[in-house]
Amino acid sequence: MDKPVIDRNLYVPAIDAWIDPSEPKARAIITHGHADHARSGHGAVLATPDTIEIMKVRYGEDCAGRFEGLNFHDPLKIDGATVTLFPAGHILGSAQVLIEAEGQRAVVTGDYKRLRDRTAQPYEPVACDLLITEATFGLPVFQHPDPKDEIARLLKSVAAQPERSHLIGCYALGKAQRVIALLRDAGWDRPIYLHGAMIRLCELYQALGVELGELLPATGMGKAEMMGQIVIAPPAAIRDRWSRRFPDPVVCQASGWMSVKQRARQALAELPLVISDHCDWGELNVSILESGAETVWVTHGREDALVYWCKKQGLKAEPLALPGLDDDGGEGGE
Ligand SMILES: [Zn+2]
Ligand SMILES: [Zn+2]
Repeated sequence: MDKPVIDRNLYVPAIDAWIDPSEPKARAIITHGHADHARSGHGAVLATPDTIEIMKVRYGEDCAGRFEGLNFHDPLKIDGATVTLFPAGHILGSAQVLIEAEGQRAVVTGDYKRLRDRTAQPYEPVACDLLITEATFGLPVFQHPDPKDEIARLLKSVAAQPERSHLIGCYALGKAQRVIALLRDAGWDRPIYLHGAMIRLCELYQALGVELGELLPATGMGKAEMMGQIVIAPPAAIRDRWSRRFPDPVVCQASGWMSVKQRARQALAELPLVISDHCDWGELNVSILESGAETVWVTHGREDALVYWCKKQGLKAEPLALPGLDDDGGEGGE
């Protein structure tokens, strides 16, 4: 591939647009609503309708000069290229971006996962020549457990300690709604209590058709009422005095990083829940092979091991150092 249709800064010259740019640009294509991908201040934003709603809730109605919603699978021809969005399975509205130009197909995955999650449109593999993949969990040591087992451990702990409340640290966008959905699907039908920072995004998910059951604000509840209850809050709130209002709280943190003992300790998690919204190592490998790409650019995480693995498969591969992506792969740890 002499001249890729996307450059190493995820700029697409044929349509003068940037994918997930870290600085305000005239034209941006946004894969999903997490803060290290979606920023305010672009002239025009092209994204799925769900992502646009998420951006408006997080940054305000006028966070971009103009929005253009593009549904999954609808090819959009702009100048010399065609843009199509495919589900990435990461959070609601999250998309992979396919750029077709000059007979070439290039895919930017954004963040993605393959495991079924009813709070996100399910991931679909997309055939391409150039695959630009994230690698948040790009080390062989990462093999995510079944989230159903993690939720079962949580519910067991709740049943065994009815006098305590369980506080689950979750990022407000994506993880919170997924954990709530997993709890509902495991049969937890009591109200789930929310920190104030979670409320608007949970309401938006519900408005966009994701069933989450009865959700109540956690503030203003007495200690006695909160015994045996489950509370969802941002990870930071759980570490500070906010959590003292609850009876002898069991601190849980839900993140793919909870498989790393040191991270679980830092998060003060008595009950770490390994629930990830990214591919693990095996899923990254499968996705790369399935795409049929000859060239793979690896970004957003642990690039080196995956680049090495690609080369061993006979693929051309290189790491991309993109500015503005945090080390944890979005939201400080997905
Ligand atoms: Zn990310
Ligand atoms: Zn993300």
